[in-house]
Amino acid sequence: MSWDFSTDRDYQEQLDWMAEFVRREIWPLESIWHELGLDGLRQAIAPLQEEVKARGLWATHLPPELGGQGMGQVRLGLMHEILGSSPIAPLAFGNAAPDSGNSEILALAGSPEQKDRWLHPLLAGDLRSAFSMTEPDTPGSDPTQLRTRAVRDGEEWVIDGHKWFSSNGSIADFLIVMAVTNPDARPSQRASMFIVPVDTPGVEILRDVPTMEHPWEQFGAYGGHSEILYNNVRIPGDALLGGEGEGFVLAQHRLGPGRIHHCMRWLGVARRAFDMMCERATYRHAHGSVLADKQTVQNWIADSAAEMQAARLMTLHAAWVMDTEGARAARTDIALIKFYGAKVLHDVIDRAIQAHGSLGYSTDLPLEQMYRFARAARIYDGPDEVHRQTVARQILNGYQAPAGEVPSEHLPTRRREARERFSHLLEAVTAND
Ligand SMILES: Cc1cc2nc3c(=O)[nH]c(=O)nc-3n(C[C@H](O)[C@H](O)[C@H](O)COP(=O)(O)OP(=O)(O)OC[C@H]3O[C@@H](n4cnc5c(N)ncnc54)[C@H](O)[C@@H]3O)c2cc1C
Repeated sequence: MSWDFSTDRDYQEQLDWMAEFVRREIWPLESIWHELGLDGLRQAIAPLQEEVKARGLWATHLPPELGGQGMGQVRLGLMHEILGSSPIAPLAFGNAAPDSGNSEILALAGSPEQKDRWLHPLLAGDLRSAFSMTEPDTPGSDPTQLRTRAVRDGEEWVIDGHKWFSSNGSIADFLIVMAVTNPDARPSQRASMFIVPVDTPGVEILRDVPTMEHPWEQFGAYGGHSEILYNNVRIPGDALLGGEGEGFVLAQHRLGPGRIHHCMRWLGVARRAFDMMCERATYRHAHGSVLADKQTVQNWIADSAAEMQAARLMTLHAAWVMDTEGARAARTDIALIKFYGAKVLHDVIDRAIQAHGSLGYSTDLPLEQMYRFARAARIYDGPDEVHRQTVARQILNGYQAPAGEVPSEHLPTRRREARERFSHLLEAVTAND
């Protein structure tokens, strides 16, 4: 089978434009975006969004009828690699998480009325959203155990439950909530998704959970991870998104391409850390030479280059499988890149910090912030261990126990078999002796 994820010239020009645009217009905003606040940032980004739209690069993850280009995952992946270099670049391109994934779900499963009310304003940037699935008291890695319930009461649904880590929950206008609608159904069909406006009585946003990424208390800031109580939350029957019991199917649709985009964004971050490490190596002089002359530092650079290249090719390959054979066929490839990509991201940043010594550990460089961001990548989108398990199980399906539990490569057994098979040759050799 031939593999082909090459880039045509027209699209390469778009990629070159994006790389230059992000570096010129967006990187300079990074060091003051907390000072600007959300509204200031939106003002700064508004004209950039117009430029992106004029290039036909706005919300490209969506189907063509909603303004996307029907690009496919390989092209989207290459775009996300560039956008990943800055935490605010996706905002300028209309594909910032979690709105991007939520808009995909709405595009996929929303009724025409739901699209009018929620999707179109979301795409226009007039509304913000959050995805509310994980609960503090049940394992997010096994969402079949969700406890949040949605019960039908006449024409309405009533939701009760406790969620946390609903990213952007405290600045969202609406939440896409995953709740169990039929606890007796098969595990994969127990839950459904609902659109819940945040101002619905009974929705109580308790706090943005302080994290390694945002260690200080904050509320209502972009990128916060909200803890939310749903107390007797009544929503109309048409708040159901997709069919009853389709929650997990929809979540999978959202997560497959999302993981490819995440992995490519991680490469964008890793590349920036890598560039910083290489730059440092050129001038820091210690023990008689610059760091570039130390073999350990050379190893860090070579290992990082190899690992980033491997992660990049694996991710583009997963994207290509998804484009050519569909999401199901790409399942193992996507699980592979999830844990491998997260490790590469972590390790490259870690080496870059080490090469910078105390400066790398300080907040005078963005490396420490990248490092905290990288640590989360091993947990969200499914913890790495679950993806490793998926990969191992899939691989092990191709193996079976050998007869008599004797390993297939057991040398004494193979030698005995070979002696029998080639006895005539062995006899001839012995006769000549
Ligand atoms: C930055 C960030 C943003 C997030 N954003 C959102 C969001 O917007 N919406 C949302 O709903 N959720 C969000 N989450 C939550 C995320 O999806 C969950 O944290 C994740 O699914 C893991 O669930 P958990 O935290 O309950 O850990 P658990 O399920 O309790 O797992 C804990 C650990 O157990 C181990 N483990 C689990 N299963 C296995 C296994 N099969 N084999 C071996 N070890 C295993 C792993 O080491 C795992 O890390 C976010 C999380 C983070 C960190």
